[in-house]
Amino acid sequence: MANIVAIVGRPNVGKSTLFNRLVERRQAIMDNESGVTRDRHYGYADWIGKYFTVIDTGGYVTGSEDVFEGAIRTQVAEAMEEASVILFMTDCHSGLNPLDKEFARIVRGLKKPVLVVANKADNTDYHYMSNDFYALGLGDIFPISAASGAGTGELLDEVVKHF
Ligand code: GDP
Ligand code: MG
Repeated sequence: MANIVAIVGRPNVGKSTLFNRLVERRQAIMDNESGVTRDRHYGYADWIGKYFTVIDTGGYVTGSEDVFEGAIRTQVAEAMEEASVILFMTDCHSGLNPLDKEFARIVRGLKKPVLVVANKADNTDYHYMSNDFYALGLGDIFPISAASGAGTGELLDEVVKHF
């Protein structure tokens, strides 16, 4: 079975930033070979010799937060269905949010690995704030900075254990 990692979470937490970081190197090679622009919702990545597809579910969600719940139930739900590992992304700058809780409720019902990623842990203060997300009841938290790449190695080490 294919290794598929879906990045889910409310708008603006940094899903596309992480997606771009993960697929950047291989995507650049593929674009160069084919000479075409790829669909940026799907990309290919690798870590310590393991290859996987990454889905940026945020690319599906447009408009205001009102339409967000509906979007979860449609395309985002399909991506989660397809995935072998789900990265549920939150944001240390804004802290625990009602939409995070809604997401947590949905992913808790899935019988597949869900890793809680606390993004924007750019410094020690924000890193400390990532502890808030233990309240989601989804186990370990992975504090990262998608912008700088900090913490992404530890996260990927855990992701590839599930392949
Ligand atoms: P998405 O809506 O979840 O796909 O979020 P984006 O990837 O578009 O990011 C939303 C905003 O957060 C952008 O302004 C990013 O530059 C910013 N951002 C993403 N990752 C980080 C991070 O690690 N630290 C900080 N400080 N900002 C970030
Ligand atoms: Mg996005």
